[in-house]
Amino acid sequence: MKKIISLSLLTVAALTQTTFAAEFPIKDKPVTIVVPFAAGGPTDRVARDLAEAMRKPLGATVVVENVAGAGGTIASNKVAKASQDGHTILLHHIGMATSPALYRKLPYNTIEDFEYLGMVNEVPMTLIGRPTLPANNFKELQDWIKQSKGTINLGNAGLGAASHLCGLLFQSALQVDMTTVPYKGTAPAMNDLMGGQIDLLCDQTTNTTSQIEGKTVKAFAVTTTKRLTTPALKNLPTLQESGLKGFEVTIWHGLYAPKGTPSDVSAKLNNAIKAALKNPEFIKKQEALGAIVVNDKRINSAEHKKFVADEIAKWGPIIQAAGVYAD
Ligand code: ASP
Repeated sequence: MKKIISLSLLTVAALTQTTFAAEFPIKDKPVTIVVPFAAGGPTDRVARDLAEAMRKPLGATVVVENVAGAGGTIASNKVAKASQDGHTILLHHIGMATSPALYRKLPYNTIEDFEYLGMVNEVPMTLIGRPTLPANNFKELQDWIKQSKGTINLGNAGLGAASHLCGLLFQSALQVDMTTVPYKGTAPAMNDLMGGQIDLLCDQTTNTTSQIEGKTVKAFAVTTTKRLTTPALKNLPTLQESGLKGFEVTIWHGLYAPKGTPSDVSAKLNNAIKAALKNPEFIKKQEALGAIVVNDKRINSAEHKKFVADEIAKWGPIIQAAGVYAD
């Protein structure tokens, strides 16, 4: 009798798995891309363009939900513990790899608690300042930073955000301390920068290109090793050529489902992502903002996971050396 009960439980479990897979996407149920930062910022923008491009290949409505806070870790935790039916997925950036070193009590395991669905794009960052800043190039900015001794406000999107990492490296390269001002995303930080409430911000080109073009902020440098080709950004020097040896930050985005999502559901999501990344409209929108859509093996789960593990190993010691962490 006992044996029959356990067998039937197994059958129920197996059936539940196939039901998820066979029905995915569940009729009339949207797929939600959880974004770990505020609406209107660079991660949100990638998510919304991606949602549009994934809709058709997935055969489902794709919506975006902003779950901002704690540098992206609140959203990651939410998705790690979400239903494994494929309808809740996370779009996150490099913060996925920096948060294990920054947060001593991360409530999830970055490698173990997610199915890796594939990488999406790589995005350079730009160092920008308020429009009233009395410096017009990187050399003048450095002089102003020296004179301003400890009174500079540097915005970011919280501990673990890309802007936080970039700001950390920038302060350490110049050996200066700035007052960091955390926001729920770089969309609100950008508003404050334009209004002069903060002095500096390091943010993805997907958020800064149009502001630089419209001269609503001052741009000083890019964080890549080579200059960019985007018209509005092509005259900006790299931080390396400006004297900050070895300075390089490129932000990448990837998609994740909760661990335990059936493999055929993950495969359907991965196929829709691959189709989106080949969509000429999506590619055009991304390139206009300085982003490069991933077109290599990292659009596959195993290579995406390996890349993130390598990034955790790369950034861990750098963050530990900076002595920054949250309890
Ligand atoms: N770009 C931001 C950061 O990580 C987050 C955002 O608002 O998308 O700094």
